[in-house]
Amino acid sequence: MDSAVLPTYGRADVAFEKGEGAYLTDTKGRRYLDFASGIAVTMLGHRHPHLVKALTEQANRVWHTSNLFRIDGQERLARRLVENSFADLVFFANSGAEAVECGLKIIRRYHDENGHPERYRVITFEGSFHGRTLATLAAANNAKYLAGFAPVVDGFDNLPFGDHEALKKAIGPETAAILIEPVQGEGGIRTVPAECLRGLREICDEHGLLLMFDEVQSGMGRTGKLFAHEWAGVAPDIMALAKALGGGFPVGACLTTEKVGKCMSAGTHGSTYGGNPLAMAVGNAVLDVMLEPGFLDRVQQVSSHLRQQLARIAEKHPGVIKDVRGVGLMLGLECVKPNTALQAALLKEGVLTVTAGDNVLRLAPPLIIGEAEIGEAAGKLDRACAELSA
Ligand SMILES: *Cc1c(COP(=O)(O)O)cnc(C)c1O
Repeated sequence: MDSAVLPTYGRADVAFEKGEGAYLTDTKGRRYLDFASGIAVTMLGHRHPHLVKALTEQANRVWHTSNLFRIDGQERLARRLVENSFADLVFFANSGAEAVECGLKIIRRYHDENGHPERYRVITFEGSFHGRTLATLAAANNAKYLAGFAPVVDGFDNLPFGDHEALKKAIGPETAAILIEPVQGEGGIRTVPAECLRGLREICDEHGLLLMFDEVQSGMGRTGKLFAHEWAGVAPDIMALAKALGGGFPVGACLTTEKVGKCMSAGTHGSTYGGNPLAMAVGNAVLDVMLEPGFLDRVQQVSSHLRQQLARIAEKHPGVIKDVRGVGLMLGLECVKPNTALQAALLKEGVLTVTAGDNVLRLAPPLIIGEAEIGEAAGKLDRACAELSA
């Protein structure tokens, strides 16, 4: 294809013209059931009337003013995130990587302000994904993504997933924090067991380390709770959010406590666009819907229905699907054949999905998905599996 776009993506030869709820229509008029949600972003589906209204109303008022001025929508969204989380303070960014990067800077500065500038190393885990900036790539330590980009940013100790002994050995006088995704997304929908998250909290408290959760993918209702860590009943000191927070409008956020965040005085961090009025209007509209009583209960109900359907199909096609994993509507199919083969078969059936590590195919339908759409997806998955077994 003759394209002026930097070829950093292997793209499917499909372009979409319009979306409506859980469906997308391509430029040839074909309809697809969207179980990709733009990589767990469009969590209220496409063209949600409340989001469209919020964005267009704000577009008719003011788009951008910079953070040199007070932004009322930012104050309001920060307040609401704080009221519904462990946090006291919020920094707004434009993406997940920036939200994580802000957290990494807070970690270093917190220890520096507390008389421990030598404490700068962050423990991270194999299979994680934290973004594509130099520091977030170093954190995840994925050889494929780091290739050609040496030298790797210093300050990360990447450990095997779930190896408690390695964790204990890795903590030293320079250790500043532990960074983990409560449910690994890109890594293959790998859930960190609740007792492990609780164990990490204890270890951090014992050694004076900060605990940071990357909930860029697992947060904002995706698992059936506002944040995935709520399932474990533990709170971090810092949390990165993005993806679903803007429902499709680029926005990220880094949340932290007063105790930790007070080290970030005026001038220590910034972003020209971060938290601009358009992004904040949409973020507040997303929260309007998500905080409605019963919204997350419905996500839990519908996700157990979807999971039952997936388990039934997996059982019927053991030569295609080995297992179903995940929490809420953050689900993965463990594939027997390459995950790309099942993805292609589903695309042919008109269902969009996303691949992940561990040969897993990710299913991330919008949280507004209904039983009829789940039934339709199940039928198509059944046919795709049948085709692959043939
Ligand atoms: C997607 C993702 C990121 C990076 O977000 P971008 O908006 O692409 O920068 C970081 N962490 C996790 C867990 C993600 O899933």
